[in-house]
Amino acid sequence: MKYKLLIDGALVDGASAIEVVNPATGRPFAAAPRADEAQAELAIAAARRAFPAWAARDCAGRRGYLEQLATAIEARAEDFARLLTQEQGKPLEQARQEVMGTVAALGYYAEQKLAPRTLRETAEDRIVEQRYPLGVVAAITPWNYPLLLMMLKVAPALITGNTVIAKPAPTTPLSTLLLGEIAAAILPAGVFQTLVDRNDLGAMLSAHPGVAHVSFTGSTPTGRKVLASASDTLKRFTLELGGNDAAIILDDADVAKVAPAIFAGATTNSGQICLAVKRVYAPRAMMDALCEELARLAAEAVVGDGLKQGTTIGPIQNRAQFEKVLTLIEDARARGTIVAGGEPSSRDGYFIAPTIVRDLPDDARLVREEQFAPVLPVLAYDDLDDAIARANDSDFGLGGTVWTSDVERGIAVAARIESGTVWVNKHLDLPFDVPFGGAKQSGIGRQQGIEGMEDFTQTRIVNAALG
Ligand code: NAD
Repeated sequence: MKYKLLIDGALVDGASAIEVVNPATGRPFAAAPRADEAQAELAIAAARRAFPAWAARDCAGRRGYLEQLATAIEARAEDFARLLTQEQGKPLEQARQEVMGTVAALGYYAEQKLAPRTLRETAEDRIVEQRYPLGVVAAITPWNYPLLLMMLKVAPALITGNTVIAKPAPTTPLSTLLLGEIAAAILPAGVFQTLVDRNDLGAMLSAHPGVAHVSFTGSTPTGRKVLASASDTLKRFTLELGGNDAAIILDDADVAKVAPAIFAGATTNSGQICLAVKRVYAPRAMMDALCEELARLAAEAVVGDGLKQGTTIGPIQNRAQFEKVLTLIEDARARGTIVAGGEPSSRDGYFIAPTIVRDLPDDARLVREEQFAPVLPVLAYDDLDDAIARANDSDFGLGGTVWTSDVERGIAVAARIESGTVWVNKHLDLPFDVPFGGAKQSGIGRQQGIEGMEDFTQTRIVNAALG
């Protein structure tokens, strides 16, 4: 299949091309068109032209377009899922879930609207808060959930009346390009467009005066660059960044119940989830039983090509990340005890077996840094206050979990974690109507929920004298 960019309603070739590698083989399996700055300028100009007519429709007028898009994606669900597995690596069943999550997100946002809020209504005054769209939104995404993360930006941006330029990560551009191909037949020209780059257009979009809002998901270092690029134009932005989420297990927890949940939370999508469990704090007396159970689950996991039936853990998405993870494992080997995994795979592709490490000091790289891989440090604690302080001793503050057989106690511990989301006895439950985002250097702004939609709009207070 020949992939095209969607610019101003037309499916076009790029100025050049990039190879897209299947991480399960380490070899290219498709070519993607790569846009240059001139094509990005054309896309921004087209998005600006399309904006007034799109913004002038009300939410009901835009709703049908989103519903049509959802139906069209659902009709191609299996194509999307296979493409996701090939470009991203995740097992096919997880890719199917990502596609259906994307369809559900579109369906949810299609029904939303931001109604005006009356702030005061007296005999003298009527003060109303209205919301209007910002203009052109640049949606910039990472490579772990290429389709779903894109849709969690595109759908709320479109329903609130913005036009969108979608720029996926260079290693996972194909699902966004397929989305563009489908959207070309549904949305008016310029309302939704796709650009693929080689990590060179994100900065241009973030700085461009024609772009009103940057909705960015990616690493904290790149988030800092977006913040700097957006400053000249005082552009609006949402930054969903990295995390180093702690799981705190309380002394009353049942290891047999908690270990599978923690293992899944640390290894789903090969641990490449911003909100994955990235460090575990367990009571010292529980350490042996917990590590034994986690090691057993690691041994049971089937690591392999996501297209192969039975695979539970696919490859790491790209070579740079794979090599970074290998250095983290070597550092962990030198400073702690590896109880499962830890050996690089000898086959082609970027495979890392699930790895469990104990006895690491708190300043080990695997504890301090975001590993974004199925490599989990398990740390002992003697005192709960100390465990909470260690969990909070991080520049990140994205998520976190508390595991206990006493839910009220768990909720009280959760209230002491400095993070945007803390789950008690569950994980990765992210309903579309609940706002989500980071504390500290894990982000600024919110996605999902009313707050997330509001981020794509400007407030206008209309304050009228009635007398
Ligand atoms: P990354 O920061 O390297 O890249 C993300 C995107 O930014 C890519 O599309 C890239 O091309 C683009 N980009 C590169 N330079 C840019 C610049 N100067 N200005 C603007 N955009 C630029 O991130 P990644 O390695 O692709 O993704 C992994 C990271 O994403 C992890 O840290 C993970 O925790 C984070 N993440 C966060 C969330 C969240 O919701 N908080 C969700 C998923 C992933």
